[in-house]
Amino acid sequence: MTSPDKPDSVEHAENDFPMTELLPNFLAGRWQNGSGAGTELVDPVLGTPLVRVDASGMDLAEAFTFARKQGGSALRQLSYRQRAVLLVDVGKVLQANREAYYEIATANSGTVKNDTAVDIDGGFFTLGSYAKMGDSLGDRHHLLDGDSARLGKDPLFQSQHVMTPTRGVALFINAFNFPAWGLWEKAAPALLSGVPVIIKPATATAWLTQRMVQDVVNAGVLPVGALSVICGSSAGLLDQLQAFDVVSFTGSAETAAVIRSHPAVTQRSVRVNIEADSLNSALLLPDAGAEALELLAKEVAREMTVKSGQKCTAIRRVLVPQALYQEAAAAIGARLAKTTVGNPRNETVRMGALVNRAQFNTVLEGLALLKAEAEVLHDGAAHALIDADPTIACCVGPTLLGLRTADASDASQHVHDTEVFGPVATLVPYRDIAHALALIRRGQGSLVTSLYGSDSAALASAALELADSHGRVHIISPDVAALHTGHGNVMPQSLHGGPGRAGGGEELGGLRALNFYHRRSAVQASTAVLAHLKPVSE
Ligand code: NAP
Repeated sequence: MTSPDKPDSVEHAENDFPMTELLPNFLAGRWQNGSGAGTELVDPVLGTPLVRVDASGMDLAEAFTFARKQGGSALRQLSYRQRAVLLVDVGKVLQANREAYYEIATANSGTVKNDTAVDIDGGFFTLGSYAKMGDSLGDRHHLLDGDSARLGKDPLFQSQHVMTPTRGVALFINAFNFPAWGLWEKAAPALLSGVPVIIKPATATAWLTQRMVQDVVNAGVLPVGALSVICGSSAGLLDQLQAFDVVSFTGSAETAAVIRSHPAVTQRSVRVNIEADSLNSALLLPDAGAEALELLAKEVAREMTVKSGQKCTAIRRVLVPQALYQEAAAAIGARLAKTTVGNPRNETVRMGALVNRAQFNTVLEGLALLKAEAEVLHDGAAHALIDADPTIACCVGPTLLGLRTADASDASQHVHDTEVFGPVATLVPYRDIAHALALIRRGQGSLVTSLYGSDSAALASAALELADSHGRVHIISPDVAALHTGHGNVMPQSLHGGPGRAGGGEELGGLRALNFYHRRSAVQASTAVLAHLKPVSE
């Protein structure tokens, strides 16, 4: 399964321009090519060069000013309902080009169709959901936060909190794993709020994001300046930030730390949302029963293999009662054994590639680290690649590790703090529920945990114990076995984000997502003045 180091992106020297197409950036209302040779994106399965991206030589100050002035004012002139219509129009453009997006995803992300759907169709669904939510806000231009409150004995003078869209730009810096959903889950609430967007996708998979923006811009469905894209290096982007701009970052904890400490953030109080990495868990409750064990095994195997485990919400630690360790290992292993790995173009393949050679090497390094503490229960190396050259394709089989004893669960370090961003999870046996909850909390704050059992009271109690350290608690009991939306699926109605190590951010959660793009202000005035703040229908 190992292969020699091969570059996954190639920096070209000047005068050595390759033949692949250079993707233009859309900034300041026009398409602009970078002035350098660019970085080439590579097919992670075939190793072939695809397109180039380059952000050098862009006038970033002009781009940010244009977005704030042109895009921002045009969006703010519209009501929430009118901006909801814009989201519907964007969705129509994207739907019309869906096939092209699938082809780009296969080539650039190496994903099978089902995994591509999580990204592309998941993005469409989120966009559509915000269009519906926006329509429900009606023809207003601001929102109220709570009721008015009297400030003294005389009820005439009161305070009313209002929410108005920030008059800056929303800069999105995104991770490689969701080039489509990652754009729209952020852009939908921002545009609905009336805030223009500049998206900088991760270089490795920038093509799909760039193409979607290109289609939307060329269709003319958004005001010019409402949506811009810059592909390639992030150099200089954060320097442009001003007091009313916001940044939404998704990526590694290391890059998050750089962004948090940037002078624009520390000195100009730029609002930042961070979605970082996470040691998510799944917990089989004591006395959960055979059906719950089967549901856990199914979900763990699915989470490990969807997008080759390159999902921020994927299950990394699987907690089971000590007595059920072997049984759980066998149930999960039996499902993993059926996972066919290789070229996503082959219909028999269920799991495609990691995104590139760098990611491939990082996953193998992380696996080696975990193996120093854990035994191998299902070996990914046993999966022969289908239709793919193992010396070129960045494919790895799913590997289930295990800590064997509850004492080993306590003694382990890496299992609780190293996120291997690939098809890898570890079975962690526990003594009793208190021990299980303590082990889960060693993740230092996660995006999601899922609980499996049939005792409603015990499940609810465990959920409340874990809620403060998780953005989401997903509970799978036999009655919702066929209904639940999946441990790793991020639904627009529910919060996405997590405290502590997960970055401390909050995205989605229905209309709560709009808060990030609004400023709250307390208006203190006579009730006659405050009456004008209320929407006509209220
Ligand atoms: P990454 O290396 O941190 O990159 C994320 C983004 O930051 C990319 O667009 C990258 O651009 C940019 N970047 C790199 N250095 C920067 C700097 N100094 N200043 C500003 N931007 C900079 O992360 P990744 O490898 O793409 O993503 C994998 C990680 O993301 C995993 O740890 C995963 O858990 C996490 N993730 C979290 C969530 C969530 O919602 N919580 C979702 C998905 C992924 P370049 O690509 O051009 O370097």
